[in-house]
Amino acid sequence: MSRVVVVKDVDFRYNYEKILSGVSFEIVSGDYLGIVGPNGSGKTTLLKLVVGSLKPTKGKIEIFGESPEEMKKKELIGYLPQVMPGKSFNFPATVMEVVLMGLISKKRFPKRITKEDVEKAERIMEMMKILDLRRKFVGELSGGERQKVFLSRALVHEPKLLILDEPVAALDPESREDFYRIMERLNRDMGITIMMATHDTGEIGNYATKLLYLDRRVVFFGSFDSFCQSEEMTRYFGEYSQHIICHRHDRKKW
Ligand code: ADP
Repeated sequence: MSRVVVVKDVDFRYNYEKILSGVSFEIVSGDYLGIVGPNGSGKTTLLKLVVGSLKPTKGKIEIFGESPEEMKKKELIGYLPQVMPGKSFNFPATVMEVVLMGLISKKRFPKRITKEDVEKAERIMEMMKILDLRRKFVGELSGGERQKVFLSRALVHEPKLLILDEPVAALDPESREDFYRIMERLNRDMGITIMMATHDTGEIGNYATKLLYLDRRVVFFGSFDSFCQSEEMTRYFGEYSQHIICHRHDRKKW
């Protein structure tokens, strides 16, 4: 199994406040990592470090053996940032235009859209079942549809690693299910490695293979099975909280 993400003894500070301390973990090709932890525990910060939009104060991060900055250029990462509650989507762009932005933002001048670009965008939209929405403005869509548009934009350049920050937080239960099913397909059928920060502790065990529990440091990193069996974690969380993360996991189909 090849190593996809290696985080080694990483510290991060915003000004004087230490947000992350001594964070280390590794994920390999095909992993589906769920990152959970309280509000303000550093999940978004960690994802920003992995995609190279922030730099560690100390320690090292490697993605496919290279620095996150190098990876940015090679387009091997798809990133779906957190959507702030109440954010307005009334900008005048169609679904097709937003998906194509995923290709054009990485091009050098002259930034031209080719026939192949459009075909690529159509293929991914078809897979997400949003092709019939292609001419609609994103402001006209439901939250679930809009999330699929942004996911398509993150996937259109065919990344090997997909990074998602709270992707289901604003979705209704049905759209959540739908979104998780898409993730499952991307991970299992298309072999895309996934890192997902989520508050959805009751559900993530149904889907992810590994768990990172972050509280400004790594409280736990490993398989869900080992988390559920860990007496140390029972002592840390109490049986009830450990059970919330684990109980659905027992119903896992694989
Ligand atoms: P989480 O995603 O787990 O909720 P974050 O990574 O968003 O946590 O934030 C961790 C901490 O860093 C929080 O206390 C937050 O207030 C702080 N923080 C986030 N962004 C900034 C910033 N740009 N400047 C200063 N502090 C920040």
